[in-house]
Amino acid sequence: MATQFIPYGRQHITQADIDAVVQVLHSDFLTQGSQVPAFEKLVADYTGAKFGVAVNSATSALHIACLALGLGKGDILWTTPNTFVASANCALYCAASVDFVDVDPITLNLSVEKLAEKLEIAKTQNKLPKIVVPVHFAGEPCDMAKIHELSKTYGFKIIEDASHAIGGKYDGKPIGNCEFSDITVFSFHPVKIITTAEGGLATTNSQALAEKMQLFRSHGITREVDKMVGEPDGSWYYQQIDLGFNYRMTELQGALGVSQMANLDKFVARRHELAKRYDELLKDFPIILPFRNPNNYSGLHLYPIQIKVESGKTRKQVFDTLREQNIGVNVHYIPLHTQPYYAKMGFQQGDLVNAENYYQGAISLPLFYDLTDEMQDDVVRALQKALN
Ligand SMILES: *Cc1c(COP(=O)(O)O)cnc(C)c1O
Repeated sequence: MATQFIPYGRQHITQADIDAVVQVLHSDFLTQGSQVPAFEKLVADYTGAKFGVAVNSATSALHIACLALGLGKGDILWTTPNTFVASANCALYCAASVDFVDVDPITLNLSVEKLAEKLEIAKTQNKLPKIVVPVHFAGEPCDMAKIHELSKTYGFKIIEDASHAIGGKYDGKPIGNCEFSDITVFSFHPVKIITTAEGGLATTNSQALAEKMQLFRSHGITREVDKMVGEPDGSWYYQQIDLGFNYRMTELQGALGVSQMANLDKFVARRHELAKRYDELLKDFPIILPFRNPNNYSGLHLYPIQIKVESGKTRKQVFDTLREQNIGVNVHYIPLHTQPYYAKMGFQQGDLVNAENYYQGAISLPLFYDLTDEMQDDVVRALQKALN
């Protein structure tokens, strides 16, 4: 039994992070200063995208990304059922509707084959999606080139939900460069790869989309004369030209983000060391290990295993035994279409069998920068006991 509770994920905060936040507290600007733009530039430069728009969460980023792409009443957004609720809720915020494309049973990402089939049917029914949201589950990149190709044929927009994937690479290039999407969204919740406590950011190569997202994150208000209706009354003047929100990131968060970015590559590299160690230590266990495509570099937010039926144990038994031994395992994800709120819209158990089958055995093992080899050995021993 682990002597201390080992969570499935947690932040790593350095003295430099703390100093950066404290410095902001001593400064003139707690919000709308220089730190958020600096963070936006750092993430944009890191990913290779032209623009970065920081907000108070990835959920907000998904919302303003949908708004910027013009999603509204009568439109449809498609995403994967193997994700957090926010990947789909963004459509509902815009009064659009949601549909799901099942996952590939190996990668656990939205299946490109199923997407192609569903698009062909949707075309004949005049029900094509306006936006598709692929989620890089656990940090493993989706097959973006193929999804992008389909978007050209069927005319949909793409928002990558890269909440699990900052620091990862698809085909050698950084996730978030938007080569195959309109917008990419990152999350900086403390369990994710880098943190700003709460926070999110959208990257894009389109100046028009970046400007729209900037407008939506701040009440729909502009101070730019060329965007105003008529002439400004004076230099104090601003205009509300659309209905936006207050989704701004604070300067404290921006400064923390800037400081965290310095360690991003180190964080992801350690996650890879730990994942390789799990792969080796668990290779003879009656479980399915997570897939990693050797042509990609996962952000490795999660290490999700699946308990095999042959183990003779249910996921619940294994999960409960691990928790009793102080191992803070978790489950990612309860298939989104089975949530009561979505079931009310007519989605049913059995609609998306790959996501449902995966869920039956799914357990996410602890994976974070500060997990030591010794703690990981405790996890492995606890799992062995749970499976016996
Ligand atoms: C965490 C997460 C979100 C939401 O991120 P917040 O920053 O907490 O709003 C969205 N999508 C996925 C896949 C996530 O894991």
